[in-house]
Amino acid sequence: PPARQRLVIGNWKMHGDLDLCLETVSVLADVVTPQVGLVLCPPAPYLGEIRRLAQGTRLDMSAQNVAELSGGERTGEWSARMLAEVGCRYAIVGHSERRRHHLECDQLTAAKAQACLNAGITPVVCIGESQLERDNLLTEHILGRQLRHLVQIPGWREVVVAYEPVWAIGTGHAATPDEAQAAHAFIRACLAQTDPVAAAQISVLYGGSVNEHNAAALFAMPDVDGALVGRASLSPQALSRIYTAA
Ligand code: PEP
Repeated sequence: PPARQRLVIGNWKMHGDLDLCLETVSVLADVVTPQVGLVLCPPAPYLGEIRRLAQGTRLDMSAQNVAELSGGERTGEWSARMLAEVGCRYAIVGHSERRRHHLECDQLTAAKAQACLNAGITPVVCIGESQLERDNLLTEHILGRQLRHLVQIPGWREVVVAYEPVWAIGTGHAATPDEAQAAHAFIRACLAQTDPVAAAQISVLYGGSVNEHNAAALFAMPDVDGALVGRASLSPQALSRIYTAA
């Protein structure tokens, strides 16, 4: 994406249906401006429907997951090329739910990010610490480890990073703007050790219980370039208000 692109991504997780596809595109198509990206991330079976409905609008589309391989005998998986072919501009990789329930690690997440870049789509690389890690003052250690794996892929300068503290996801307990800003500044400082110019230009989104009430204060932070929104994205009206705040 262009330098420090502001982005709001609505991640439905395993929720939604064809009616929500229609309602979401109807509500949001007229809201999107060229200044801030708005990305719908439905379950994979609905990507084609979103594409059809969003044709001719400024809405972008993302997958929630992608394989690290370009093809092969992997039943139930899909490649980045396939996502690009059906109109995805982004794919989320390394979401904490993938890490937790599907045991995805930093190496695999980095490989998935590179697979996206090879296919011409932008990976949204999720990183973040758990409550236990935060309690033990390990936030920077964990983010540092996750980013070390990321910068080992040649294309890392082209990714979008999403800071998603695990304790804030789906809990209704978002990071405060100051907590988010501190983590985002740390993420940029880590990336700057490899490339200061790229670190200043990369988009870093915040994710974790963002809603229409807390979004504006988070977006006012200098290193918060937008949001990855879970639950609130299931309401097109809420997603629209969050987008407008960005
Ligand atoms: C997410 O799924 O990435 C997320 C941040 O979820 P929620 O907004 O529901 O916390």
